[in-house]
Amino acid sequence: MANVVLRSVRKTYPGGFEAIKGVDFEVGDGQFCVLVGPSGCGKSTLLRMVAGLETITSGEIEIGGRVVNQIEPADRDIAMVFQNYALYPHMSVYDNMAYGLRNRGTARAEIEARVQEAARILELGSMLTRKPRQLSGGQRQRVAMGRAIVRQPKVFLFDEPLSNLDAKLRVAMRVEIRKLQRRLATTAIYVTHDQLEAMTLADVLVVMNAGEVEQIGSPLDVYARPATTFVASFIGAPPMNLMPLADDLRAQLGSAPPEAGILGVRPEDLTIVSGTAGSGALALDVTVEAIERVGPETFVYGARGDHLNGPVVVGSAEAAGADLIVRIPGQAAPGIGERITVTAPPPSLHLFSADGRRRIVR
Ligand code: ATP
Repeated sequence: MANVVLRSVRKTYPGGFEAIKGVDFEVGDGQFCVLVGPSGCGKSTLLRMVAGLETITSGEIEIGGRVVNQIEPADRDIAMVFQNYALYPHMSVYDNMAYGLRNRGTARAEIEARVQEAARILELGSMLTRKPRQLSGGQRQRVAMGRAIVRQPKVFLFDEPLSNLDAKLRVAMRVEIRKLQRRLATTAIYVTHDQLEAMTLADVLVVMNAGEVEQIGSPLDVYARPATTFVASFIGAPPMNLMPLADDLRAQLGSAPPEAGILGVRPEDLTIVSGTAGSGALALDVTVEAIERVGPETFVYGARGDHLNGPVVVGSAEAAGADLIVRIPGQAAPGIGERITVTAPPPSLHLFSADGRRRIVR
């Protein structure tokens, strides 16, 4: 068991591209840390630096109280699970799991005990003689997990381990991984671009964007208090609605600080009303453009007629082609083209600086 500490970690690739621009965070002993962010933000680079598969341009990485910058991957006491599983195709499931231990000269009886135990935990006992090609995607994924478990590492590193699985299996494996990590109580760092996976797996969520950490916190805290508009629109689906805090909206709120330039409201915090909103509440008139019924709830896409200036925030209502998304329980919904009023109570409103880089507390 071990904690992992990153101090001012930077990575500039040959050619000058700065993939990691100075990252600091700590993963406590036994914690499950998820690095989440869009494609190309540097998650895999960071994980590979912890693993020792990528050199560090500057800064320090510590595992279990030991600076590992100069330590070979094999001596870092980590085990990595890759997206493509990286199983040896010509070896049986048993040999795939035993291979690393044999290489280290582990005693035969010890290998047998550890492989059998991992196979039991992962329910692979009946498949130990099969080759990877005789397994389903989910089973291969479990073999890759098994190979990591038998190492009894101080830290598990996962690089998008579920992205090759279909949606149903992803959910099942997500739950399995979480249960397994709880049971083994091994520190884990897990990379994904899937915000739902990140929310459900993490003790500590590290949201990354363009080589930098945007926010670190517990998933629910990040959801409730996103530090930037990037985090606000990346965490949560459908994403938070973001709009310029124009004079009419400012007047509605009454007490917005002058530095606030962007207003955010989550789709589930909006309610469709027939009367007028209470004082201090946000009230927006929108024209219904599209309806999505997903079973237990319905997403209403509305047009307000004004647009957020500046770059489109990826994943925002605007990127989805609408000004506003409202999430309502059940299946009853207004008709397309109908003019409706939606409101949100003051405590559910989020304010950000005009550049979206800072959360503003009212
Ligand atoms: P994805 O989810 O798509 O895997 P990621 O967040 O894991 O994305 P990285 O693979 O860490 O992203 O890459 C971060 C950035 O560094 C990308 O812009 C990528 O193009 C760049 N990069 C990665 N490897 C190299 C390399 N060997 N040389 C130069 N640039 C690289």
